[in-house]
Amino acid sequence: MPSVYDLHSHSDLSDGTVPPTAVVERAAANGVAFLALTDHDLTDGLAEAAAAAARAGITLISGVEISATWSGRTVHVVGLNIDPANSQLQAGLAGLRAVRNERARDIGERLERAGIAGAYDGARRLAHGPILSRTHFARYLVEAGHAGDVGRAFKRFLHKGRPGHVPSRWNPMAEVVEWIRAASGRAVLAHPARYPLSGGQVRQLLTDFREAGGEGVEVVSGSHGPGDVDRFARLAQEFGLLASAGSDYHGPEIAWRDLGRLAPMPAGCTPVWHDWPTAAAEPHAMISGSKH
Ligand code: AMP
Ligand code: MN
Ligand code: MN
Ligand code: MN
Repeated sequence: MPSVYDLHSHSDLSDGTVPPTAVVERAAANGVAFLALTDHDLTDGLAEAAAAAARAGITLISGVEISATWSGRTVHVVGLNIDPANSQLQAGLAGLRAVRNERARDIGERLERAGIAGAYDGARRLAHGPILSRTHFARYLVEAGHAGDVGRAFKRFLHKGRPGHVPSRWNPMAEVVEWIRAASGRAVLAHPARYPLSGGQVRQLLTDFREAGGEGVEVVSGSHGPGDVDRFARLAQEFGLLASAGSDYHGPEIAWRDLGRLAPMPAGCTPVWHDWPTAAAEPHAMISGSKH
């Protein structure tokens, strides 16, 4: 079932594989009417995406997916409807990108010590934009024959306890939520089922996120199975959090994680878009309304 709202996607300016225009055009072709481009730790693709969305007749939601540290672990916070010109947000993101570049050097050195040559340069070559992600290292490891696919490259080299692992050094989650709020955005906890946390830890994470000013949680996600959707639908309601939906699209190579191909939002959740203007999603309502 196509979903009108897809509020999590990446272009090749971070770790996606296609430019912002191609992301927008594919979203429109798949029936998405509200698309958020949420590149990791940068907003540079939003202007191009907005121009493409205007041509395609869909609404581009200005977004970003920010790396953060909670309780010593990495979590991702999506900001929706942010003002990308906000200086507090941009200063925070610039700091994160510096941390990211340093981390990339460290990953390269660690892999070098594990006998894998040229990983930093290889990852740099595969990155199209200023973001150097573990995804680029994983793609290099596959290209150089060290792993059969990206998933195995993560498991063997990049996860905790593996030779290329570097612990989380991002800013605290509460600070990241503050940047999003400073930029008039709505903070949404990304793909909560993906973190390796116990039930009690998940509840603590949601408690802390809400206390920090977080407003929503991804209930429907390309990273969530049906059980995860039901579980986080219940938790969103219990914690009074809005429910978001996003594919986490990274490019056409991953066929099962396509734009707009999402499970329906469970009944009982308040969608994160509940107070957004719906004209673009319901063009007929607008046309009939304009007759009066
Ligand atoms: P980074 O922000 O550089 O630490 O990279 C995180 C990104 O790596 C995520 O946004 C995913 O796109 C990707 N990723 C993380 N874990 C995996 C995995 N096990 N398999 C494939 N991609 C992954
Ligand atoms: Mn990614
Ligand atoms: Mn993420
Ligand atoms: Mn993502």
